[in-house]
Amino acid sequence: MKMKAVRLIEPGCPLEMQEIDVPQIGPRDVLVRVEAASICHSDAHYRAGVSPVYPLPMTLGHEVAGVVEQAGADVAKLKVGDRVCLHYMVTCGDCEYCNQGREQFCTSGKMIGKYRDGGYAEYIAIPARSAFVLPDEIPFAQGAVMMCSSSTSLHAINKARLQPGETVAVFGVGGLGMSAIQLAQAYGALRVYAVDINPVKLEKAERFGAVPVNAKKADPVGEIRRLTGGRGVDVALELIGLPLTMDRAFRSLAVFGRVAIAGLTDRTFEIAPYRDLLNREAEIIGVSDHLAEELPLLIEFVCRGQLDLSDVITETVDLDAGAINDALDQLDEFGDKVRVVIAPFGH
Ligand SMILES: [Zn+2]
Ligand SMILES: [Zn+2]
Repeated sequence: MKMKAVRLIEPGCPLEMQEIDVPQIGPRDVLVRVEAASICHSDAHYRAGVSPVYPLPMTLGHEVAGVVEQAGADVAKLKVGDRVCLHYMVTCGDCEYCNQGREQFCTSGKMIGKYRDGGYAEYIAIPARSAFVLPDEIPFAQGAVMMCSSSTSLHAINKARLQPGETVAVFGVGGLGMSAIQLAQAYGALRVYAVDINPVKLEKAERFGAVPVNAKKADPVGEIRRLTGGRGVDVALELIGLPLTMDRAFRSLAVFGRVAIAGLTDRTFEIAPYRDLLNREAEIIGVSDHLAEELPLLIEFVCRGQLDLSDVITETVDLDAGAINDALDQLDEFGDKVRVVIAPFGH
C-alpha cells in the first residue's frame, strides 16, 4: 500500500510530496492514521538546514495526533480505533537513561520528523509506548499542538519543582509562555507574572490570569521585586533564549528561587555569584524536551479546560507540499505567531 508524505529531500529546498510505502509495524508498534500534524517553528529550521535532519529524504512533523489503524501483536494498551497523540521522542525503554526516567537522553533515542519519519503523511508507525490516548473532548489539532510547546512548558515547571502557593515569572509569552502561565496556575501557583515587550501578548496573558509586566516600560527585575514586596519570585521560566532575558529571569528570584531555562542559545550570560546565586541559594536549571510520563497529566489539564489551546491554531491545511511550504515561509518570516495544522484526511 502506498501513501502520501511531504518530505525534506535536501536542506535549503522546499519540501516535496512523495508516494511512499505505508510503513510496516513490528509487534510492539502501532500504525496511526494521521488526523492532525502541526507545523512547528523547528520544522522551518529543519527545512533551512539550521538543525540536522537525517537520513534524507525524511518526512517531517513531530506534533502528531490521529487514530490507531493497526496494532502490533504485543500491544496491550491500545486498540484499533483509539484516538491518540504521539510523544515525539522514540526511546528504547531499556537503557540506563530510560530506566532512570531520563529518556530524553536515551542512547538510541530518535525524534520523529527529524531522525525517523514523522507526521506530514497519511500514516506513521511508532512504538505503542510513544502513543497516548487522546480523550474525545480534545480535538486532534489541539492534541497535536500540545505535544511540543505545552509539554516543554510542563517539563520546565516540573524541573523548577513548582509548589502550590509559590510565585512564578514567565519570561516570553509566546506559544510556550501561554501554556506555561496556565499550567503554573493548574499547579497551584499563587501568582504568575508574564514578562514580555509585546502588548498584545501581555493582554492575552492577563486574560489567562497572569499579571502583565511590560519589559519595554520598566526593568522587569525591579518591577517584579516591587510587585512581590521586594521578595522576588520562587520560580522563573526563561522561554525566549536570550542572554538578556536569562539574566533578568535569574535576578528576579527570591531566596531559594529556581530559574528553569528552556530558551535555546549558544550565547553566554553572566552571573554575580555572591549576590544572586549563593546569597539566595538560588538554582539555575536546564530544560531539555520532556518525558513521556509527563504527558498524561498534560492531557488531563487540557481535558479539564485548565490548559486552553482553543485559540492557538491559526489555520488548517491539506497534506499538500505547496501549502506546507507556505506555512514554513510564514514561520521564517513571522515566527511563532503562526500555528498551522495539516489535516491529511480533511478538516
Ligand atoms: Zn515542535
Ligand atoms: Zn533508552
